[in-house]
Amino acid sequence: MATDYYAVLGVRRDATQEEIKKAYRRLARELHPDVNPDPETQERFKEIGLAYEVLSDAQKRQVYDLGGDPTRASASPGGPGGFGAGFAFSDIMDAFFGGGASRGPRSRVRRGQDALIRVEIDLSEAAFGAQRDIQVDTAVVCPTCAGDGAAPGTSPVTCDMCRGRGEVSQVTRSFLGQVMTSRPCPQCQGYGTVVPTPCVECAGDGRVRTRRTLTVKIPPGVDNGTRIQLAGEGEVGPGAGPAGDLYIEIVEEPHPIFQRRGDDLHCTVTMPMTAASLGTKIPLETLDGSVDLDIRPGTQSGQAITLRARGIQHLRGTSRGDLVVHVEVQTPKNLDAEQEELMRKLARLRGEERPSGTFAPGKQGLFSRLKDAINNG
Ligand SMILES: [Zn+2]
Ligand SMILES: [Zn+2]
Repeated sequence: MATDYYAVLGVRRDATQEEIKKAYRRLARELHPDVNPDPETQERFKEIGLAYEVLSDAQKRQVYDLGGDPTRASASPGGPGGFGAGFAFSDIMDAFFGGGASRGPRSRVRRGQDALIRVEIDLSEAAFGAQRDIQVDTAVVCPTCAGDGAAPGTSPVTCDMCRGRGEVSQVTRSFLGQVMTSRPCPQCQGYGTVVPTPCVECAGDGRVRTRRTLTVKIPPGVDNGTRIQLAGEGEVGPGAGPAGDLYIEIVEEPHPIFQRRGDDLHCTVTMPMTAASLGTKIPLETLDGSVDLDIRPGTQSGQAITLRARGIQHLRGTSRGDLVVHVEVQTPKNLDAEQEELMRKLARLRGEERPSGTFAPGKQGLFSRLKDAINNG
């Protein structure tokens, strides 16, 4: 037998149950992982637990005194030397002490939060990019205390209640004999230090709110909902912790004429039948200025005219989307006598007095026209 359990608990071989219990409690309090988190002490803590498990149980103690190993016998519950133990002592300890992991005081320094600001831009800014000055309300390091939260000339001191551990332990009785529980120190809220004279400017938080102006470069090609990340421009964390990120979310205002689909722009031009038939030029205000839209003679309703590279610049790349103009031809109505006569004459000349029409599946409605425009454009 390698381990002398009596020596581990520091009791004589003829110690009473009461003496064994007392010795164990004293040692457990001293060696508890919350008091002494170093690995060596934790190992000793497990050792005293094991010793107590054996010596506090009359049957196991007897096996041990006779030179047997009562901790191994548990593999055959009910059999010779079995003690019906279904789990090892260390499992119980782990369950009660969270694996005995050392926790220690928590840091006052934490990373700051991310922030999100929405920026409205118009279509032309989306196409060509923009630069914006934005007002940011954010937390910065307190200039008075430089972030440690203590008034100038003072500094945080070790908490006397938990002696800097950030936790206080309590021993309670349970079916295991006794159990130690720990909770965050109420005096220092688990930080291990207290600030006796908090900085007046930041009330001990280590940071103050301020408003500053940031110049943001919005690249060409952004779309509704695009987020631009500005690393480290968010809030400074408590205790002057590293700043979070600032996200600029793009909100694109709708354009009165152009509808955006990806990086292409779409619009509709409505024109009289005569213009569509004879051909004409119609001025169109694009994002790049005015152009003359060339309506070829015989332009059909639903036809699309594509102006290459007059759309939005691709976010990754330098090329641009197209501007697609969909043609709507208006049928003349409310004809006066002379116009009606001319129309009838035109129909006669074109042999269209009794047209049979051409029927075909599909091709109807705005949707298919857009689809055609995209496929053929
Ligand atoms: Zn301060
Ligand atoms: Zn404390």
